[in-house]
Amino acid sequence: MKRIGKLYFRYGTMGSAKTALLLTTAYNFEERGMLYKCFKPVVDTRDATNVIRSRIGIERECSWVYPETNLYEEIAALSGDKKFWPGWILVDEAQFLSASQVDQLASAVDDFGVNVICYGLRTDFRTKLFEGSKRLLEVADTIDEVKSTCSCGRKTIVNARVNSLGEIITEGEVVEIGGNERYVAVCRNCWRNKRVEQAKKGQLPFEEEA
Ligand SMILES: [Zn+2]
Repeated sequence: MKRIGKLYFRYGTMGSAKTALLLTTAYNFEERGMLYKCFKPVVDTRDATNVIRSRIGIERECSWVYPETNLYEEIAALSGDKKFWPGWILVDEAQFLSASQVDQLASAVDDFGVNVICYGLRTDFRTKLFEGSKRLLEVADTIDEVKSTCSCGRKTIVNARVNSLGEIITEGEVVEIGGNERYVAVCRNCWRNKRVEQAKKGQLPFEEEA
């Protein structure tokens, strides 16, 4: 009988414990003697060690995904390993996958019956979908939101980028390597209000989305 797998996308804002969830899932697999493999896109090459680490202090080894990595081939290679198969694939920071890499995961799910769980952000600091997240929303079998709460009590929606003065900024590169910017997850309402307030103080211009 052909094994049927699923492609999962679990998205949330920064600080919504996605990585902690991934690591908890990995831990549960270990407890039950189930095999898995972790992948993570390389964004900052200064990241010397190939581990997925969460703020709660646990970490697991992962394989880097480079822009040229073919994830279908990576998983096909695993399928030859009778000891590994049928394993689970866990992907951290899945927003940084290319659309093609998401399609490669989808094909691996369909051809090998492997289950793939992708964790990642839905949108960048400009509230635009990341490439990998867009494709996952389009093709994943199961989509779950990992919720977290804004300081006002609403659900967080936006990964706001803030400068050293704590002002929300909406311009710049999507990935600032080695920059000093920080991020804070806020609800859409706070994101807008804060920018209107900044504009009134003459700090940064506020422009409604076209
Ligand atoms: Zn809020």
